Amino acid sequence: MAIDSHCHLADAAFEGDLAAVASRAHEAGVTDAVCILSSDTEEEFARVDAVRAAWPGVVFATAIHPHRAGEYAGRVADAVRVVREAVTRVSALLLGEMGLDYHYAFAPRDLQREVFAAQIALAVELDLPVAIHTREATDDTIAVLREAGAGRVRGVLHCFTGTAEDARAALDLGFYLSIPGIVTFPKAGALREVVAGLPADRLLVETDAPYLAPVPHRGKRNEPAFVVETIRQVAAARGETFDDLSRQVRSNLQDFLGASRVDTSVKAVV
Ligand SMILES: [Zn+2]
Ligand SMILES: [Zn+2]
Repeated sequence: MAIDSHCHLADAAFEGDLAAVASRAHEAGVTDAVCILSSDTEEEFARVDAVRAAWPGVVFATAIHPHRAGEYAGRVADAVRVVREAVTRVSALLLGEMGLDYHYAFAPRDLQREVFAAQIALAVELDLPVAIHTREATDDTIAVLREAGAGRVRGVLHCFTGTAEDARAALDLGFYLSIPGIVTFPKAGALREVVAGLPADRLLVETDAPYLAPVPHRGKRNEPAFVVETIRQVAAARGETFDDLSRQVRSNLQDFLGASRVDTSVKAVV
């Protein structure tokens, strides 16, 4: 068994062969997946039924990505409304991905921070965990999580490739760290060292499919089945077996989503 804590199954890249992608994942033992939806991208929502049909039990997350924050200059309240509606539409169990990306900086930094902080406040209000995208922006990301989260935000840093210090800052906030296929790259020795020292109960693994395919699939379209390569590499770095690590990350994902799952069932009854 295995999990993919972060993938974009509603991306156009999977439109033609979603059922085959899902069945390869199941054959590889990938039982659980979190599908990330961009709250203001209607094409992705149009594919939600197809994703559900291909992968029953898939969990949805939705938010506004930092790349899209530029759309909300002077109207951050609209961003919050859009995310709130998107969460309801798909019964999302978490808000994501949201955060800060100073590498591409498609939107001005201050606006990225504003849109991010507003979504963190929404997550606290809805009592849902968050999936955070942060690139070349660790300090500001942690600062927003501290201020807007006010000690009440739970979540995961997705695609974690940071230093031991970055990891410590996130762990101190009670966050999980999700390790991507990058950990399989020959030059990722430093990341493998960091991963070796992380607490077992805060580890998740992900593909970020269709992006970032692990070795030996590098350069191809990524898909959830390939998460087994990441688990293999993380297990080797930590001196654990593939099966033990697979079980551990699955149980971590259940714990991570646990509170929101219970919450959803309560809402369904009401
Ligand atoms: Zn991301
Ligand atoms: Zn992503």
